[in-house]
Amino acid sequence: MTGWAILLSALAMTAIVGVRYLVTSGAFAFATKWKHPGLYRGLEPQMKREIGWSLASAAIYGVPAGIVAWGWQAHGWTRIYTDVHAYPLWYLPVSLLAYLLLHDSWFYWTHRWMHRPVLFRAAHAVHHASRPPTAWAAMSFHPLEAVTGAIVIPALVFVIPIHVAMLGLVLAIMTVMGVGNHMGWEMFPRALVHGPAGRWLITATHHQAHHAAYRGNYGLYFRFWDKACGTDIGLGTFADVADRRSPAAADR
Ligand SMILES: [Zn+2]
Ligand SMILES: [Zn+2]
Repeated sequence: MTGWAILLSALAMTAIVGVRYLVTSGAFAFATKWKHPGLYRGLEPQMKREIGWSLASAAIYGVPAGIVAWGWQAHGWTRIYTDVHAYPLWYLPVSLLAYLLLHDSWFYWTHRWMHRPVLFRAAHAVHHASRPPTAWAAMSFHPLEAVTGAIVIPALVFVIPIHVAMLGLVLAIMTVMGVGNHMGWEMFPRALVHGPAGRWLITATHHQAHHAAYRGNYGLYFRFWDKACGTDIGLGTFADVADRRSPAAADR
């Protein structure tokens, strides 16, 4: 019985992650068509591969998430809480920030590690095979890389208390930024990206430079680790992307 319950929970989580990916990437791909028509022209075979890898990643993400969701419901595992007054209200934003900072740290170091030649060829090359990435590339990872991404939030919920709504917000931010950072154009205003906030926050313009240079800018949400470790290569440009949209690019 327990085995079936865990399997069902993992399948349900896989479906949730998969549908969340399709809806979010689909919405951003639609927005791209509307804002920058032709930006993904000729990338159809690549986008098919991105969707395939991403759905495989959804299945991998679903397993630890399913086990933890089952344990939370059936046995009260984890430090996820539902009574908003179980901790002081100021703790809500603090827990959100703590999750984002810890996820960012985990991502920075595993991502940097995956740029070592052997691991890059074995796993991370799949993500960089998107040239340039599209809105469908957000979860386009080799299964080995997907495992490193899939365990972090399920592990954190055992350590750091978080209200279930804040956990939902963490996952929503993760999804929107993951898709937004790969879609080939900047959705945030110039004043934010090139202003004081942009010196510390990662958006598409920053991650674009990582995909263009294959090195540096390894962070997920914040530029802290990149700056502290001397791997921040600054903001990228979408010049090659603009070139793709020109009529000349369409004829090639
Ligand atoms: Zn990379
Ligand atoms: Zn990327």
